[in-house]
Amino acid sequence: MKVFDLQCTSQHVFEGWFGSEADFSDQLVRQLIQCPVCGDDRIDKRLSAPRLNLSRSADPHGGPGEAAVPARPASTEVVLASPQAEATQAVLRLAKAMLEQTQDVGPRFAEEARRIHYGESQARPIRGQATPEQTRELLDEGVPVMPFMLPESLKGTLQ
Ligand SMILES: [Zn+2]
Repeated sequence: MKVFDLQCTSQHVFEGWFGSEADFSDQLVRQLIQCPVCGDDRIDKRLSAPRLNLSRSADPHGGPGEAAVPARPASTEVVLASPQAEATQAVLRLAKAMLEQTQDVGPRFAEEARRIHYGESQARPIRGQATPEQTRELLDEGVPVMPFMLPESLKGTLQ
């Protein structure tokens, strides 16, 4: 079994499991590998450059500015889902329900979630955009937010 870090043309990174390198190449040319985020089938194996950088910055000859190694961004669970799979359909149904039952507050999400949490705004389910930093801050404050990635196929159904 081989595990590859894969990347689509929109720079989404995900893991793919294959029986062998040949298996991977075969599925790739037959366009059977799709990005789980956007469905793109132009997939590349990701260069493992970040790991190389990591070992190089441990080099004592590196400048003082290189001493702080930026942590790899926290990774999230990712599923390689084909549109026909039952599991994918279940997730899409769930996502649709989530869209129908929440009010879109867009980029004001962090502000509005806080107001609701502290009782300054009417309690209701909302969704919107937040940066990873904003999400972390909200969770630190005890605001029960949940990162949610909208499947690409549902984005057109908004508004
Ligand atoms: Zn993608």
